[in-house]
Parts: sequence; structure tokens; C-alpha cells
Amino acid sequence: MEPKYKKRTEKLLQSSENIVITCHKGPDGDAIGSSLALYLFLKKQGKNVTIIVPDDFPPFLKWLPKSEKIILHDSNTLEANSIISKSDLIFTLDFNSLHRTGDMEEELHNSNAKFIMIDHHQQPDDYAEITYSDTSICSTCQMVYHFIEALDGLKLIDTDIANCIYTGIMTDTGSFRFRSTTSTTHRVIANLIDIGIDNAKIHQNVYDSNSYNRLQLLGKSLTNLKVIPELNTAYISLSKDEQNEFNAQKGDTEGVVNYALSLQGIKLAAIFKEDQNNKLIKISFRSKGDFSVNEFSRKHFNGGGHTNAAGGASKLSLNETLDKFISILPKYTKELS
Ligand code: 5GP
Ligand code: MN
Repeated sequence: MEPKYKKRTEKLLQSSENIVITCHKGPDGDAIGSSLALYLFLKKQGKNVTIIVPDDFPPFLKWLPKSEKIILHDSNTLEANSIISKSDLIFTLDFNSLHRTGDMEEELHNSNAKFIMIDHHQQPDDYAEITYSDTSICSTCQMVYHFIEALDGLKLIDTDIANCIYTGIMTDTGSFRFRSTTSTTHRVIANLIDIGIDNAKIHQNVYDSNSYNRLQLLGKSLTNLKVIPELNTAYISLSKDEQNEFNAQKGDTEGVVNYALSLQGIKLAAIFKEDQNNKLIKISFRSKGDFSVNEFSRKHFNGGGHTNAAGGASKLSLNETLDKFISILPKYTKELS
């Protein structure tokens, strides 16, 4: 974090009675890990803090310390809104635009609280008193580590906080293999291990908790994998019926898109999923090299994210969405081939 933010942040923290921490809809390991790490850090300083997230998070994150304290906005709307309306400081973590909180957006928008954003997505909106945005950092969890460091709080990082930070760095870097993983990332991780976390156990908790159904759903996804060789593109689709056949749960398709990206020579990969509740198609894009799925998704699928990982959505049917995707691709022949 830039030194200029330090004084202002300390002032804001001092003058705030009630603090809320929130993250994006469909929270992942980085969103939940960073929220909990910051929560535990602020709690240690005697602050009144509440984590409110838009909707539920996957079961493989429920072992994280104090995750049971997290309030879900969609199933506790009145309570959550009342806490937001009484807050004087709101941390928004792991997203760059309030609309990414879904139905929470309005409540956040109407709040009189001051905002502090900690985030690593591209093109952040300008709504916060302090915008700590750095797209070169692999994860919001690593940014929370630097945030704590900037406030001279590293001594306060115990194994609970370290578990949370490690989890988000691990999940957002694909277990330390993406380009965003730097030597600084590894130094932070080394410090967390020195604090006493069991890194192998964290990996097991997150990645070795598959249900039989989840593996079968993975099998179905791989069966549905299609390749457009001339454009080095691979994509997977999953209809609502296919997901129901294997009783798909939240988080069950996380990481599946990486199998498409792992095909030799593939530069662009996508997964298209019919959403269980809302009438839309949820899309995850991944790329290798310079092809920006952030730009691609912003332009065509109402989404965004990072250069090599982005999300998006479509209100067309599954087949229409696939047709649209396939018809757009030839415009990118030069970049993809
Ligand atoms: P995923 O495909 O795993 O849902 O998302 C990939 C990355 O893009 C994550 O960092 C996620 O937070 C971000 N992302 C997903 N959907 C959107 C979106 O609609 N807008 C923006 N700006 N980022 C998104
Ligand atoms: Mn993230």
C-alpha cells in the first residue's frame, strides 16, 4: 500500500465505531479469505466489525476460522441492511464496482459510510475514500497482508489470519502457478508458513473434499468440451439439466474451465453454465499470454476481471450464447492464432 494512504486509513479506523466488510457475489477463496483476515485483524484491535457477503460461499471454505460469523445478505436481508445503515466505514474487498455485489448494491450506494476498497481487478470505479487498487498483485489476500504491513500490524498476524490469507493467495494463483505469482508472493507465503500454518492441510481442505457427484459432473464437463483448433479456443457448456443430474452444488464447477485451458496450444478457454436460480448464463473466461479476457468480456458479455481470468454473463439461452461466442471469435483471429 502506498505510504500516503497510511495516515488517512489510520484516521478513518480511529474515527469509525461500526465497520462492515463485504465482497463480491459468488464469493471465492480470495473474497472470503481476505474478508476473514481483515475481520480478524480489526477484531484484534477491539473494533466492532461485521462481514456481510451477498450470497453463500462454497462448502470447501467453511473450515476457515470464524467463517460461521459471516452474514449472508440474500438470506438475512433485513438484519444485513440494518447493520450496513448503521456502519460508518465499509471495506469492499476483491471487486472493483459496487454492482458486483448484486442486490446489496443499492444499500451500499445509499449508505453514508466511508469506503475503503482493497482490490486487484482492472479499471476500478471511483467510489471509495481510499482506493487501494493494484492489478499487478495476484490476490486481494496478498493486498490485505500488505495493508496490515503498512499499518505496522504484522505482529498481529496469528495462525488464524495466516490461514485465511494463505487460502486466498493459493486459490487465486491456481496454487502458485499463474503469472501473477511473484517473488513477493512467495516471500509473503514463506512468512505465513513461519507463523505456523499447515500449508498441506489447507490445500487438502480446499481441493480434496470432492463429492462423487462433483467428479461425475467434471466427467460430464469434459465430455462436453469443444475445441476450435484454428482459433486455439476450447469451451465447455453445462445446461441446468446436466447440473441437476449430478446434484451440482455451489463451487462444484470452480476450476473446471482450467481443464479447457490445459489443452496443448489453447489460448482462450471458457465455460458456459445455465444459472440454477437466475435466468442467465454465467461465463468464466481464461486465457494464456496477452489475450485479455477482461477486455473481451467487458465488450461482449457484460463482465470483466483480469487479463487472464474474467467472468461474464448472458441473458440469451445457452445455445444462443454459444452461437454468439462462436460468431464473435473470428474477429480475434489475429490475436488467437
Ligand atoms: P470467475 O470466472 O472465477 O467467476 O471470475 C474470474 C475473475 O473475474 C475473478 O477475479 C472474478 O472476481 C472476476 N469477475 C467475474 N465476473 C466479473 C464481472 O462481471 N465483472 C468484473 N469486473 N469482474 C468479474
Ligand atoms: Mn481475487
